[in-house]
Amino acid sequence: MEQISGDTITIPFWKRKALEDMSPDEWESLCDGCGKCCLLKIEYEDTGEICYTNVACKLFDSATCRCVDYEEREEKIPDCAVITAQNIDELFWLPPSCAYRRLREGKDLEWWHPLVSKDESLIHRMGISVQDKVIPEQYVKRRHLERHIIDRVPGRNKG
Ligand code: SF4
Ligand code: SF4
Repeated sequence: MEQISGDTITIPFWKRKALEDMSPDEWESLCDGCGKCCLLKIEYEDTGEICYTNVACKLFDSATCRCVDYEEREEKIPDCAVITAQNIDELFWLPPSCAYRRLREGKDLEWWHPLVSKDESLIHRMGISVQDKVIPEQYVKRRHLERHIIDRVPGRNKG
């Protein structure tokens, strides 16, 4: 969305900056808070398919749909994927709706994204996020993880 004020046209930062050029605050604001990257996933070696489960990382707060220790997440959860402009191309498992992935693919933010809609709770009200839909990983045995599959995305071997 372009904002026109008098003779000045202000183009939102995500439309005029490359991911690599964004400030830390701009970068963080791109996260729509869907929480999908905090779900446990299964990757099938034969097909490359990635399956999302409704089982969430133990640091994920289902009510707020946020990490409870975001600043220390790398130390607390070694498997946590910290998304950067440098590694995003390797994070093929990110959901298609993820703002970082969309921008990297040359797409715009979705209309419901908080930066566009100016409504941080819209993504939850629309049911796009995983708020209140997940089970903490400590309550699920790893061998039962397949029972919790809720979505599939193409993996590294497929489009
Ligand atoms: S999938 Fe992307 S937009 Fe959603 S919470 Fe994770 S980083 Fe943020
Ligand atoms: S450590 Fe935090 S950001 Fe990382 S996967 Fe777990 S809940 Fe998500």
